[in-house]
Amino acid sequence: MSNKKSVTVIGLGPMGQAMAGAFLDHGYDVTVWNRTASRADAAVARGATLAPDVEGALAANELVILSLTDYDAVYATLGPAEAALTGRVLVNLSSDTPERARAAAHWAAERGAVQLTGGVTVPPSGIGRAESSTFYSGPREVFDRHRPALEVVTGRTDHRGEDPGLAALMYQIGMVMFWSSIVSYWQAVALANANGMKAADILPHAVETANSLAGFFSFYAERVDAGLHTGDVDRLAMGMASVEHVLHTNADAGVDTTLPGAVVELFRRGMDAGHAADSSSVLVELLNKGA
Ligand code: NDP
Repeated sequence: MSNKKSVTVIGLGPMGQAMAGAFLDHGYDVTVWNRTASRADAAVARGATLAPDVEGALAANELVILSLTDYDAVYATLGPAEAALTGRVLVNLSSDTPERARAAAHWAAERGAVQLTGGVTVPPSGIGRAESSTFYSGPREVFDRHRPALEVVTGRTDHRGEDPGLAALMYQIGMVMFWSSIVSYWQAVALANANGMKAADILPHAVETANSLAGFFSFYAERVDAGLHTGDVDRLAMGMASVEHVLHTNADAGVDTTLPGAVVELFRRGMDAGHAADSSSVLVELLNKGA
């Protein structure tokens, strides 16, 4: 019997293709399957085997990496082949909500498979790199057993616990920051454009501003956890004036104000709740209460 390392990768979007490539780089026997078969061409040219169908892809290996758009795509792909799921370890690197990750783990268990939920924190260019990382959750023993293969996907792995929702939760915590931040960058570029500047003209300023945020996170984390929102460094009333300046600057330039308007709305609620003299960190308390 061969000791050759082997894995199946289902889903060959940019991420799945990068993962298949990383496994090939590490000498794995790689079986692939994708709804649109032509997306397997590059991996096959490098030595991967294209399974004729999902059943074949599942039958080829115990370890199955799923890199699909979301969990609807997971059910659409695996549902018709569910009889082939018994005994499989599904490393589900498709993103979705924590609740859907828990439901999918349950669905897999009912069919004799085990799901390890994953949340990859890097784009395709980061796959296969030692410094990249992925959150995992699900059975620890299964994670430990397959860790060498998981470390091919990203060199760093962070097992958050047995609850299959935890990796998805950590992923979404990163994503709420990522998407809001990247949209704030598009807003800044639009404001620059409206004033005759290009993205390249503001790049050093944008990078410096983004880099400065880490210091704010560190400063506020301990205070927020302690419920301390004293306005000794910043006051919500100061922030209110500032976010209104942002809104008006964008409005005056004829730029869409959806994003700065939403920020003003949050600050306004904090002011209305009587927090003018508190730090803007008090907004966490408002957010905790829901809309
Ligand atoms: P894509 O959405 O580009 O592709 C994923 C795959 O899903 C494709 O192979 C596609 O098949 C397949 N798929 C979608 N819907 C169905 C369906 N109904 N039935 C069968 N197959 C389906 O995703 P990426 O490769 O960019 O990303 C994969 C996962 O990784 C996503 O969950 C994403 O959120 C996450 N992620 C992505 C990052 C990125 O930078 N791209 C970074 C971190 C995480 P087909 O080729 O036939 O369309």
